[in-house]
Amino acid sequence: MTEQEQSNNGKNGGTPQGHMARALALAQAAAARGEIPVGAVLVHGPSGDIIAEAGNLTEERFDATAHAEMLVLQAGGRKLASPRLAECDLYVTLEPCPMCAAAIGFARVRRLYFGAYDPKGGGVEHGPRIYQQPTCHHKPEVYGGIDEQEAARLLKDFFKDKR
Ligand SMILES: [Zn+2]
Repeated sequence: MTEQEQSNNGKNGGTPQGHMARALALAQAAAARGEIPVGAVLVHGPSGDIIAEAGNLTEERFDATAHAEMLVLQAGGRKLASPRLAECDLYVTLEPCPMCAAAIGFARVRRLYFGAYDPKGGGVEHGPRIYQQPTCHHKPEVYGGIDEQEAARLLKDFFKDKR
């Protein structure tokens, strides 16, 4: 993680650990709203500034696509007035699903940091492994397993309470 820390020093407590801690707080807030606890933060890599942040909103918006990653890509694109977020890094508490992994590629995100691995629903290290497909034209640098245990515990507690 050392090379990332160099470019992310500065504002907003800008270390990968700090941004993931923020994503975890957003995941926790999502759980409190009855959403699957996943949180995401989009960071401008060079400055370390947070561009957008979100937790899942699928229930609230009646929208199966309102995953935290999709929401920060949409908000980030509007904020930077560009669909291409090539200087941005995305932090998310769970391995992105195939839809979000594809969207992160379309947005040309520089680095993807995720927390827990998701063997059942993930699309980066599992399932379709989106970035390894010949149809994928931009592959972010991927760093998985950051604060993995905390992210996994949030999900486990959420589904335990649901039963
Ligand atoms: Zn997703």
